[in-house]
Amino acid sequence: MGAPGSGKGTQAQRLVKQFSIPQISTGDILRKHRSEGTELGKRADAIMAKGLLVDDATMLEIIRDRVTQADAQDGFILDGFPRTQPQAEGLAALMTELGTPLDAVVLFEVGDEELVRRISGRRTCSLCNKVFNIYTAPPSSPATDCVEGSSEHQLFQRKDDEEATVKERLRVYEEKTQPVVSYYSGTGLLRTVSAEGALDEITQRLLAALAEAVAPAPSRAASPKKSSAKKKPASKKVAARKRVVRRAKPKAKTRARAGRRAARKTAAKRVAPKRKAAKRARVPARKVARKSVRRPRRGK
Ligand code: AMP
Repeated sequence: MGAPGSGKGTQAQRLVKQFSIPQISTGDILRKHRSEGTELGKRADAIMAKGLLVDDATMLEIIRDRVTQADAQDGFILDGFPRTQPQAEGLAALMTELGTPLDAVVLFEVGDEELVRRISGRRTCSLCNKVFNIYTAPPSSPATDCVEGSSEHQLFQRKDDEEATVKERLRVYEEKTQPVVSYYSGTGLLRTVSAEGALDEITQRLLAALAEAVAPAPSRAASPKKSSAKKKPASKKVAARKRVVRRAKPKAKTRARAGRRAARKTAAKRVAPKRKAAKRARVPARKVARKSVRRPRRGK
């Protein structure tokens, strides 16, 4: 998460290389629809041009469709989603349904002045789709990282990176997306990363935040020594829990056995006078006993 221009897309592309999982950028998906002229693309075009947000139901549908594709089964990086509280809640429900909880939510923090500089300098290559910044991260020339056969990137400025739209996007971010930051802060998933400075430094900070987020709970926010010392009580707890579970079974059995024993005693008491009567009537006592002392069925 982060304001427009905070560098989410650039850093997400670096994570793709690091973890070999896809970047799912809702902005990119919408732009693709727009360039292909689909129904959704046509609808989104006007909304995007104004710097507003596409409706939540549509965005959730896009995400459901994308995260269930084969290449996303080992994980994915969401970029630009969720942007509203209903999107965040819809995502939580979807992740629960699919059994793939989020590992972390990273918030990129950048000062306002820097944001404007970044957005106004942002350019995208129409050939390889890489994002550059003519002030802070210009492309190499000649290009060594564009599509095969191209020695120069073909840069263009996104229409919604123009000044008037940028202002509206920043306003919308404050209004709709800031509450999502509070929402994730409450879930304990949120990691805040300072996204100013050299790109490599930001990547290092991002990787450190992610490593912390996926570390086992006892070692979080602790030095390695302390964390290993903290692990012991945790495993003891687990062992104790297992013991409790194991103890629970014999207890239940014992209760059942005691119940059966008591039932037999009561039945035997009932039979005793009958035995005497049988003796008197010269009927073999065993027959009477066998008939009367019926063992209660297990579990009853
Ligand atoms: P981005 O490239 O992430 O800055 O997205 C560009 C534009 O696409 C935004 O200004 C919105 O109009 C639209 N968009 C992207 N992601 C979302 C989303 N999660 N919810 C609603 N609209 C979105």
